[in-house]
Amino acid sequence: MRSFALFSLGISSACLVKAAPSAPGAGLSLIKSSPTDPGTWVTEEQKITEYHAKDIHFVDITKITDPEVLAYYSLPDEEGIPALVPRAVTYPSNISHRAEAEPLIAQLSTANLQSWAKTLTDFQTRHYRTDTGLEAANWLLILAKSLAAPNPAITVSSFPHSFEQPSIIVRIPGSVSSSLVIFGAHFDSINDRTSDLNARAPGAVDNASGTVVLLETLRVIASSGFAPQSTLEFQFYAGEEGGMLGSQDIFAKYKAESKNVLAMVNTDMAGYSPSGKISIWTDYVDEPLTRYVRTVAEGYTGETTEDTCGTRRCSDHNSAMSNGFPAAYVCDEKRRTAFKVHNENDSYDKLQWDTVLRHTKFLTAFAVEASYLSG
Ligand SMILES: [Zn+2]
Repeated sequence: MRSFALFSLGISSACLVKAAPSAPGAGLSLIKSSPTDPGTWVTEEQKITEYHAKDIHFVDITKITDPEVLAYYSLPDEEGIPALVPRAVTYPSNISHRAEAEPLIAQLSTANLQSWAKTLTDFQTRHYRTDTGLEAANWLLILAKSLAAPNPAITVSSFPHSFEQPSIIVRIPGSVSSSLVIFGAHFDSINDRTSDLNARAPGAVDNASGTVVLLETLRVIASSGFAPQSTLEFQFYAGEEGGMLGSQDIFAKYKAESKNVLAMVNTDMAGYSPSGKISIWTDYVDEPLTRYVRTVAEGYTGETTEDTCGTRRCSDHNSAMSNGFPAAYVCDEKRRTAFKVHNENDSYDKLQWDTVLRHTKFLTAFAVEASYLSG
């Protein structure tokens, strides 16, 4: 199992983490919105009105007990990421499985992307604490099972959390190794213009788009009988908008079980891109993996752009990184030109299908290329 060099250097996590305030009562969540914030107890509505609406990133640490993870979120943002200790995996410097990837890419269907995105955005909201957010998870589970059905080796399971909405994990076992290559996308949504959790939140760009990118990639891989050498997982996260809740639970479990994660690629927003280029973000991610992701993206889809998030409380790739796993983040656009999400206007009609398809081509290519990673 890997751990951060930070810890191998003997820096005590205790000196980085102030004691979190004790629980004031049921129904509140402890969130951390800056490295120096020891934790603040808030209601679900306050997460929206005091943080989301003000564009303040946070991670929900109510259930996080691992001192290394808490230490990661307490590092000053300007310090970047702690270096990972040397690992067994070496990422290739070029692409080498085009002959296998291109026939799968040729089967990608925009009609599928559209159909599934329509269903996802038709839920009133996919907020993780709502009835319709749970209904969306149930629909996703059934769909994932049907897409996986052509290959009986694939398992599809629900990953329960302390809240109603589960995450969904699809696993394609490797023919050689149980080491993991993980593709992640959150499927919950939020409207930060009101404290009403049930307010209309179609979440088209954020992140029905990323969800359907994973679904269509899964479909072509499962239906072709493609047999990866390493194990592939498609992870659909609950509760990202609540502070990366679903992904934190999953990666905490994987760390506790000493799973070997070779790569985690997060797709959060893949539906609106005036630049026409995939944007690969460069801060609080694993640099060698990010270089490899860019190599694959440029090899199959053309030029890429880059951007930064500015905090380590950005999206689900932070959950992988904070648990010591190498992660990268692909997005549809730079922040400056990105679509304004988290409101009722993030609707189905805003989706640009050439953008969604571009991301699906990239992820399908990456799934094939990275399935040969070992370590
Ligand atoms: Zn998102």
